[in-house]
Amino acid sequence: MGSYSVINPSTETVVTDVHLHSEAETDALIAKAGSAYESWRKVAPGERAALLRSFASEVSKEREALAELEIRNSGHTRGNALWEADNVANVLNYYSAAPERLFGRQIPVPSGIDVTFKEPLGVVGVIVPWNFPMPIAGWGFAPSLAAGNCVVLKPAEYTPLTAIKLGEIAKKAGIPDGVFTVITGKGSVVGARFVTHPAVRKIVFTGSTSVGRSIMAGCADQVKRVTLELGGKSANIIFADADVDKAAANAPGAVFDNAGQDCCARSRLLVEKRIFDEFMAKFEVAVKKFRVEDPSLASAEMGPLISRKQFETVTSYLEERVAFTGSAPNGKGFWLAPHVLLAKDTSARSWREEIFGPVVSVLAFEDEADAIRKANDSEYGLSGSIWTRDLARGLRVARGVESGNLSVNSNSSVRYWTPFGGFKQSGLGRELGPDALDAFTEVKNVFFSNE
Ligand code: NAP
Ligand code: MG
Repeated sequence: MGSYSVINPSTETVVTDVHLHSEAETDALIAKAGSAYESWRKVAPGERAALLRSFASEVSKEREALAELEIRNSGHTRGNALWEADNVANVLNYYSAAPERLFGRQIPVPSGIDVTFKEPLGVVGVIVPWNFPMPIAGWGFAPSLAAGNCVVLKPAEYTPLTAIKLGEIAKKAGIPDGVFTVITGKGSVVGARFVTHPAVRKIVFTGSTSVGRSIMAGCADQVKRVTLELGGKSANIIFADADVDKAAANAPGAVFDNAGQDCCARSRLLVEKRIFDEFMAKFEVAVKKFRVEDPSLASAEMGPLISRKQFETVTSYLEERVAFTGSAPNGKGFWLAPHVLLAKDTSARSWREEIFGPVVSVLAFEDEADAIRKANDSEYGLSGSIWTRDLARGLRVARGVESGNLSVNSNSSVRYWTPFGGFKQSGLGRELGPDALDAFTEVKNVFFSNE
């Protein structure tokens, strides 16, 4: 089916060419995963655990090489790319403790015993977007393999290189052939085939809400299990009683990290009216200092956008009133400076739509009730931040905002040992944390008669 060129978004030069798998090639690899499943599911728990730890350790050894690939393929900053490679190793290590702990229950019944088993599903299809190629792949494949499933993984067309390398690392670590297979190619060919192929028993999809919706509809045909991690339009809510200096200093990273191409980006900034001017003055200083530069530099805080297409989509939002901007390099590469927009009201396009670029839209709010109302006036509900020194208010607002992942006096969203996922149209199901194995197993109930 041919191949295509992967482009370095910092320089617009070709990194390498990658194979586009056809539907027939995809079918053959899914069939191979199906046969590998017959033996993988029977691998003893301790042995499967040891293989996952070996996979984790090989990933750690290759962290520099993986990070270097992500910098060139995706324009991620060096700091982020190293964190991302380490995240894959951490998630593998975390779920390597699962095989020996995949407990069922024993439930009291008359005339015998009743026990439950957590059975693997079979072949799981993981479909990955281009914004965080390594972590999002790992969040799907690590718990999936730990539960005894085989995985076929489709990386995004823009960013397949670290996934290909993770496939090679898995082999080197001793993961048997067919247990973890990376299949490069088009969403409309490889990804779509995961949805329609009867041997693929579950889809883990991360990406846009529109494609997620169509995948969910496609999965309905076979009542196929599906986990969706979709878009976001998260609010960063700053109350007048907050540590305003700290909230302002941290607000650029909360939205401009990864050039805003982050489903958890705090792209709506809600500031209490009576500190609006004070906050904006401090925020401007922080945005002007935000370092947008060659992502391979250790000092870089933001790199380029992923593609020309993404650049054009994001710049189409810059017609609204601009409060101030940061800076970005000129010349080759998909560079865009951070932009701070003053939304006219909650109907502004920049306030409602996920931009997926270094653009934040700002509005003032009157009081706590108004802040919660405005934060919830969105079809999305993925993450968000609340800045206040009042613990009781922090609790009330955290319970009031309709979102899967909130931070109070912090902008962090992801810890691999806590659950992650969205409310409303931000997704379906949860990844990571102690319960992720439930999403990769079926509960089987068996009664043994004693008569
Ligand atoms: P996308 O177009 O939805 O693509 C995501 C993945 O799905 C890619 O691998 C894509 O392949 C594949 N795909 C496309 N059409 C498909 C189809 N019909 N059937 C099966 N697979 C298909 O998203 P994107 O453009 O890569 O990423 C940007 C969007 O993802 C943003 O809007 C953001 O909101 C969302 N996102 C959400 C999260 C989250 O955790 N909630 C994380 C990251 C991104 P191709 O590469 O070949 O198109
Ligand atoms: Mg797309």
